[in-house]
Amino acid sequence: MNSIQQEFIANRKKLYVVVVVSALLMFGIVYLLEMNMVGLVPGLALVLATIGLSIWGVTSFWRCPSCNGHLGKLYIGLDHPKYCPGCGVELIEQD
Ligand SMILES: [Zn+2]
Repeated sequence: MNSIQQEFIANRKKLYVVVVVSALLMFGIVYLLEMNMVGLVPGLALVLATIGLSIWGVTSFWRCPSCNGHLGKLYIGLDHPKYCPGCGVELIEQD
C-alpha cells in the first residue's frame, strides 16, 4: 500500500467520524425537540448547523490525496471504481 492509498483511507475514516457524529447530533436534536427541551427556532438552527458540519466533512475529507480533486462521483464505502475520477491515481489497493 502506498502513501496515497494510506491517506485516502485516513481521510475516509475522518469522514466516517463526521457522518456518525452528525447522525448522533441529529438524533439528539430531534429528541430535544420531541421533549420540548429546545425551542423550534434554536432546534432548526442546530439542525442546519449539523447539516453544515456534514457538508464540511464531505467537502474537506472526500478528496483525492494526489490531485486534491473532490471524489463526488464515488460514494462512501464504495470499493469500485478504485481510481480517482480526476487524476486516475489508484485509491484502493487491488487484490
Ligand atoms: Zn486525483
